[in-house]
Amino acid sequence: MGEAEAKITGWELIGPAVEKGVNYRRYRHSCGHHQEIARANMQTERVCCGGCGIGWATAPSFIYCMRFGILHMPHMIKLGFSRNPRSRLHHQLMCSPEIGGTILLTASMPTGRTAQSLEKRMHGALKRTHPDAIIPPEQYREHLRVKSEIYEARLETTILAMLNQFGTGTDPSV
Ligand SMILES: [Zn+2]
Repeated sequence: MGEAEAKITGWELIGPAVEKGVNYRRYRHSCGHHQEIARANMQTERVCCGGCGIGWATAPSFIYCMRFGILHMPHMIKLGFSRNPRSRLHHQLMCSPEIGGTILLTASMPTGRTAQSLEKRMHGALKRTHPDAIIPPEQYREHLRVKSEIYEARLETTILAMLNQFGTGTDPSV
């Protein structure tokens, strides 16, 4: 799992943390700076380099909508944000090669902070309007490295329509 965590663009896993606790690992940024980063933050890409100052909050980002197909289960939809949705999909989210994952749409955001706040608002709206479409984490915990906010496939159209309002990075008509 450590390897998957380190696949975020620009960061390379070096080994266990020396100064901080067991929840941290030591990483090297592409600028050469070494830093101990909480595994949870690496998993969710909430990382800022203390050497060069490049961080998730100020760097360009994307809100994405993904569809997952897990054997013997109905499709699931994930809404989230990432600096690199493709890398997040292939190197972080899926726990085994039998899981089929597809990026349906991405909307480019000027910064991670903007992406995070819009994503939060979208989740809030979806929870209010479709509380029964939120899939309990027990159902996907073994398959996806995600803690919450996975929806039933019937919300796909709704989520794509919301994303389209922001303008998209993949739809050539915008
Ligand atoms: Zn750096």
